[in-house]
Amino acid sequence: MQLPILKVLSLADTFPGQDLSANDSAGQDSNGCGSVAAVFEPSRRLPPWLRREVPKGNANHFTSGLLNELRLETVCENAKCPNRMECYSQNTATFMILGNVCTRPCGFCAVSRGKPEALEGDEPERVAEAALRLGLKHVVITSVTRDDLPDGGGDHFYQCVIAVRNKTGASVEVLTPDFIRHKHGLDRVIESAPEVFNHNMETVPRLYRKVRGPKSEYQWTLDLLQHVKNSNNAIKTKSGLMLGLGETRDELLDCLADLRTYQCDFLTLGQYLQPGPKYLPVVRYVPPDEFDELGAIARSMGFKKVASGPFVRSSYHARDMAESDVT
Ligand code: SF4
Repeated sequence: MQLPILKVLSLADTFPGQDLSANDSAGQDSNGCGSVAAVFEPSRRLPPWLRREVPKGNANHFTSGLLNELRLETVCENAKCPNRMECYSQNTATFMILGNVCTRPCGFCAVSRGKPEALEGDEPERVAEAALRLGLKHVVITSVTRDDLPDGGGDHFYQCVIAVRNKTGASVEVLTPDFIRHKHGLDRVIESAPEVFNHNMETVPRLYRKVRGPKSEYQWTLDLLQHVKNSNNAIKTKSGLMLGLGETRDELLDCLADLRTYQCDFLTLGQYLQPGPKYLPVVRYVPPDEFDELGAIARSMGFKKVASGPFVRSSYHARDMAESDVT
């Protein structure tokens, strides 16, 4: 597909005259399964559209307290999501199961990596209890990548989805790792029949292994989404990309076309933000009007639902995206 090339700007190009050399802050995502990011960058270095007021009050304390009481992890905390205060204030969170240590070295993700601990058998029930007490009608469950487990954690995902559904009656959205070499684990997750199955593309093929680590495969991501559809056509599939990692417009639009070819229903596009100095740098801050334009293009390509904006993350307002299809 030949389309006009989007100029990939350096930070200095984007903000001439500003000191952008010490890109010493920032924050990003989960594990190759969730696109989230925190704004660690001093606000004077961020473009105006990424500067946010810190919400006043303590409306988020109920959610924080409940998560602590039930000893639950969220990707909101672990990945330092910039939307955490807003979502917690609305009694919303994305549960992160299978521990808080990931086995993949993704270059964009703030979740800890290393040797994970043993699974907690009562975690599904605790997730369900939290979902009930938060009054969630749409529950998003993600996880770290667990290459160390024989099924990649697929059965644990299954148990969590079933526990939440049984206890709350809520719709469930899973945001999974790639289950590469653990296809039976992937099948176990599909067996739980979540209303939405999200697996993130994260970036374009040229940057795939740099961003998602050496085990990742672009084609596998597409095949995974198609496999979900082939296994249960009632499940809505969803994927997302982070923008600003150095992708060109052509590359991005080709990715979106691939996702549609593989029957992906829902799409999220958000700005990549660097979690800290050891993570991949931001190459470009994409302006809000460009996000709007890309969102319109994506809709014209046939995605049923699209969320596109600087603060959009995989699970941001996930219920809104799902609810007209999941009731
Ligand atoms: S956008 Fe998702 S990950 Fe971020 S705080 Fe909200 S629910 Fe959590």
